[in-house]
Amino acid sequence: MIERIKSLIPAFRSWDGPLTSLLVQEPGRFGLGQLPVERQPDSITTSVCGFCSTGCNLTLHLQKGEAVNLTPDPFHPVNRGAACPKGWEALAPLKSSDRATDPLLRQKDGSYQKITWGEALDVFVSRMRSIQKKNGAASTAYISTGQIPTEEMALLGAVAKFGMGMIHGDGNTRQCMATAVTAYKESFGFDAPPFSYQDFEQSDTIVLIGSNLCIAHPILWQRILKNKRSPSIVVIDPRKTETASAATHHLALKSKSDLVFLYGVARELIQRQWIDSPSIETHCSGFSEFSHFVDSYTPEMVREKTGLSVEAWNSFLQLLQPGRRVSFWWTMGVNQGHEATRTAQAIINLALMTGNIGKPGTGANSITGQCNAMGSRLFSNTTNLYGGRDFKSLKDRSDVSRILEIPLEKIPSKSSWAYDQIIEGIDTGEIKGLWVVATNPAHSWMNQNRFEALREKLEFLVVQDMYHHTETARIADLILPAAGWGEKEGTFINSERRFSVLRKVSIAPGQALADFSIFHLIANAWGCADLLREWETPEKVFQILKKLSAGRPCDITAIDDFALLQKSGGIQWPCRSGVDLKPFDTSPNQERRLFEDGKFYHDDAKARFIFENPREVPEPVDVSFPLTLLTGRGSSSQWHTLTRTNKSDVLKRLSPSSCYVEVHPRDAQNYGMRDGELVTIYSRRGSIRAKAWITTTVLPGNLFIPMHYPEVNQLTLSAVDPYSRQPAYKACAVQIGGIAP
Ligand code: SF4
Repeated sequence: MIERIKSLIPAFRSWDGPLTSLLVQEPGRFGLGQLPVERQPDSITTSVCGFCSTGCNLTLHLQKGEAVNLTPDPFHPVNRGAACPKGWEALAPLKSSDRATDPLLRQKDGSYQKITWGEALDVFVSRMRSIQKKNGAASTAYISTGQIPTEEMALLGAVAKFGMGMIHGDGNTRQCMATAVTAYKESFGFDAPPFSYQDFEQSDTIVLIGSNLCIAHPILWQRILKNKRSPSIVVIDPRKTETASAATHHLALKSKSDLVFLYGVARELIQRQWIDSPSIETHCSGFSEFSHFVDSYTPEMVREKTGLSVEAWNSFLQLLQPGRRVSFWWTMGVNQGHEATRTAQAIINLALMTGNIGKPGTGANSITGQCNAMGSRLFSNTTNLYGGRDFKSLKDRSDVSRILEIPLEKIPSKSSWAYDQIIEGIDTGEIKGLWVVATNPAHSWMNQNRFEALREKLEFLVVQDMYHHTETARIADLILPAAGWGEKEGTFINSERRFSVLRKVSIAPGQALADFSIFHLIANAWGCADLLREWETPEKVFQILKKLSAGRPCDITAIDDFALLQKSGGIQWPCRSGVDLKPFDTSPNQERRLFEDGKFYHDDAKARFIFENPREVPEPVDVSFPLTLLTGRGSSSQWHTLTRTNKSDVLKRLSPSSCYVEVHPRDAQNYGMRDGELVTIYSRRGSIRAKAWITTTVLPGNLFIPMHYPEVNQLTLSAVDPYSRQPAYKACAVQIGGIAP
């Protein structure tokens, strides 16, 4: 991949170091962030980046209050002066010419007409109310995002559920983090990623499972490079990613054999007695059942299922010896699988049984995807009631009713459907009105052609977004123009549970408004604004969230306000009054990990060993579709559906502009394919054209296509993990050549 990108971008050709380092450390060489002399700043402020969950802080250079440039914050505990290309170009998408500037209403002939906010609110309320009147309040639903501030998510959850009476609302975080949420909740008793980024620097063995860190979280890869313990870095991934190329060990397991592998590793550690028995006995339950369960996962069986050599298997096990600090990290290669929750829990089991949790350089650590996925998990009021509570629990509902001073009957007593169930609900006719906020399901949802067909079944589709040209906005009935990152205030929570502040440094164009203001306007128009008297500003909502967090594992009652968050460089939860460290302590101890006392969140304070027999992949290869399609991130300059990153000329130059497919040379030979040739890939659901890139990054029998190109989800399968209901994007059966059947 590195050679490929270098060949595409002339400026990179003379560079002989790792591409990731080049992009992270020397962006100025390529015009990133450079500023004309006449536009020198007169002041600065800091703000957290709005793309990924790393949570880098950026110094915004202001002229008359408006950002004219930015540089990474050299003093911030997360990024320490570095940023990836997306961070450097964070201001560019704000100035794009296709920003949504006015509310737009679709006309009978399919064209869009500008309307006023007053008219837009009338349409929104009258259409949603009429659907609810005919079909019940549960016939309208919303899909939100991990890209807006916590306070906006919380407000949306209050307006939609308590004010408008909706029951069903989920976020696009279902697509990236639902598995980690479910796995942690079941294993630890609460959705609690236990680590601090310092753990990257303090490990002896770093195991990255289904994580292309160099590309997806480049600054975290930089943190690994700061580790002075000469760590062994193991990448477990069927694909030879940039991270696998840079690691000390790459285990290229056969696609979706990771659960068998992890159970086999557990068995071997038990056989060798490389386990922490006192810790297991004191702090965990279910180990004896687990040790019986894994007994059949012999090395021979594991090697046969995974394709690993004896040498690779043995050398990996040596890296888990007692006395070594081992940290396990995972991302979408695990989360987006058909048995994802059990796979994540198999990772957690390894950390628990070896005592690699709650200590420096250890942990079973899920790295989040979007900039505020953690905010969505805790405070969006979608599938969980505020603060990680349960809609079905009367006690939880009563607590929220008391704290918010809203009538108990306003809080739904049913859990929301998950994203895929909402989509199914459209198909069955149970959902007729859908409100989509800052996400792009017509591009990103699996089995895309089906999503498009379902559009016809919706009576009313509202899209609230920064842009009116996203794939989803183009099929909406009503488009509400929203402000973006940098044009509003609030907090994001990063992968290591750190709250940071987003600052307003730019004015949204035209009539576009902060999502926060749009939710308030809708509440007013709907007639439920009296419920939200206290929710006046993001800062006031933050104070409400503090109250909702009190006594919960995510307690943040000791964080005074946004000013303290900004001054301190962000603060990790929990941050309890009188219990945790002074939040403005900027010493290394400011970074905190969970479970140092061995106490988990279940009633007995013990963590659980959870396990289950592996399942068949939902769509195995066969004679008609003999290849397995993998999808994932393409480059560090692309973000998700390219809605924002394609607005930057610089970022566009850093990645191939059209869809490509990685094909192993052996398969290329079998199909008589030449490098660079345009080929057809088809699955049972659709067909696409992509440029062939013949490479050994993929195993024979596997293809890889980056998820960023709009056509890729025409191929993917409608399948979810049964516990987390997260889509299984990572494996489906495809064929090359010819045309779709
Ligand atoms: Fe922003 Fe993530 Fe890049 Fe940091 S690594 S600059 S948070 S996109």
